[in-house]
Amino acid sequence: MPLFQKAVFHTTVANLPDLPADAQREIAFAGRSNAGKSSAINSLANHNRLAYVSKTPGRTQHLNYFVLDPGKYFVDLPGYGFAKAPEDIRAQWEGLLAPYLRFRLPLVGLVLIMDSRHPMTDLDRQMIAWFSQTGKPIHVLLSKADKLNRLEQAQTLRDVQAELEKISDNASLQLFSSLSKLGVAEAETLLGDWLGMESKPYSLPPVGLRGEKVARPKNRKAMGWSARTAGGVGKPGQNKKPPAKG
Ligand code: GDP
Repeated sequence: MPLFQKAVFHTTVANLPDLPADAQREIAFAGRSNAGKSSAINSLANHNRLAYVSKTPGRTQHLNYFVLDPGKYFVDLPGYGFAKAPEDIRAQWEGLLAPYLRFRLPLVGLVLIMDSRHPMTDLDRQMIAWFSQTGKPIHVLLSKADKLNRLEQAQTLRDVQAELEKISDNASLQLFSSLSKLGVAEAETLLGDWLGMESKPYSLPPVGLRGEKVARPKNRKAMGWSARTAGGVGKPGQNKKPPAKG
């Protein structure tokens, strides 16, 4: 099961005092509007429409929280780069985003989504340079990588890596595609690590409970195991140990 599959919308925060008080660890997602941020969150959660909540009226300029596990959150930040009045941008930045990014204790890192065809805009650079001062890690997803061929992908990775190194010493990057799912597992592993969430290996149910036909030894009792003793419990991960007696 994908690590963030249980993600559900939790709340929209417009004012700092309303930040969830139970948060232990959270990861913020930032990026230029249209970079593929919502699609990336949806891919990580394996859920087609989850992050479109953030695009509904009244929510686009605020922090949208998705709960993954108790106390663990993804936080979708407003997309930047929209033609907004400069005073609106300043008010939003100073009133909500800057203090949130700088002082929020449960915030463990920032994921920055950049369209791999147009990476490292001025605003991306400013965001990286500014957030790097917190000492927390930044992970760049070079999104829509399916639109590049192999050579372009490798070149983009190299170029962005070189630029990143100049402005941050705590940043990593990878290719990502919500369409082809390239890089989803890689991102899941890193972000799971940041959040202190481990992916649980999926274990098959006991042989007797599986749908498929599996060759079994004739004398099943000799193994101390039969379909009946499985007791009809269907949850994967349970009954890992066969009962002592058949
Ligand atoms: P946001 O504004 O940053 O949240 O961007 P969206 O996730 O809404 O994506 C913007 C557009 O890019 C939409 O038309 C998506 O279908 C498209 N898009 C997002 N991710 C990918 C991707 O991995 N590959 C391709 N080809 N298109 C993508």
